[in-house]
Amino acid sequence: MLYKRLLPAIFAAAILISISHPAHAQKVMKFSNLNKEWSQDFPPFRIAGNLYYVGSYELAAYLIATPQGHILINTGLADSDALIRAHLNTLGFKYRDIKILLTNQAHFDHVAAMAAIKKATGAQMMINEKDAGVLADGGNSDFALGGRGAMFAPLKADRLLHDHDTIKLGGMEIVLLHHPGHTQGASSFLFDVKDEQRSYRVLIANMPSIISETNLAGMPGYPDVAKDYAYTLNAMKGLQFDLWLAAHAGQFDLHKKHQPGDAYNPEAFNDRAGYDTALDELMKSYQHKLNNN
Ligand SMILES: [Zn+2]
Repeated sequence: MLYKRLLPAIFAAAILISISHPAHAQKVMKFSNLNKEWSQDFPPFRIAGNLYYVGSYELAAYLIATPQGHILINTGLADSDALIRAHLNTLGFKYRDIKILLTNQAHFDHVAAMAAIKKATGAQMMINEKDAGVLADGGNSDFALGGRGAMFAPLKADRLLHDHDTIKLGGMEIVLLHHPGHTQGASSFLFDVKDEQRSYRVLIANMPSIISETNLAGMPGYPDVAKDYAYTLNAMKGLQFDLWLAAHAGQFDLHKKHQPGDAYNPEAFNDRAGYDTALDELMKSYQHKLNNN
């Protein structure tokens, strides 16, 4: 898909532009030409059971609401704090009831508002141990994008997670699946939600796309990157679930499956074929990149 080919280029261009304008440089790097859809508002909605979409048009953020407080998976850019606050309000939830913060990966487009949300709510930040260092220095130690100072407000994690760890709150049990490659700690989440009709196994997948800065021959900060991608592509092929979602709306065709105002319809996200196709495409780009190093 065009979207998938363009994304790494947009990402790289944004970073180059921010470095070439050092006059604008602040403590946390500012990006000047990011995709507008990353900050564009999108009406929040109920996906299935107690799982809600609260992100922007393109950067997915998920709320799992429980009687003991809420779990937020991903933010968007720094400006997504205000958007997420407004979305919780629209849905009738209290922002201050966010108790746990999780993310698919410690890149600035998914964690830039974490520090602000933690400060405002006191929520516990939990992250795969292999992304904890990158989160703590604002992305400066990222193997592919790092070395230029903080790209987002740094945050020290409260709990380090490992493959198959379970995160529990208010009757929810969320299993972390370590899917390294895109970042060293990239992870997906697998859990059950239920509504009046039935229960659904939900996968919030970190789709293993490869940014243009990544060299699969191995990088100083990540010698085994190719091996990890191979592991992740294979592991993700074998997952069983009813509904799937991802960190970017475009990765799971959100806008084809749900339009603002649509009635509650979990089945819109019941799309094994779409998941398999997306993974097949990522496998092809992995092989292409491996052969063209
Ligand atoms: Zn990323």
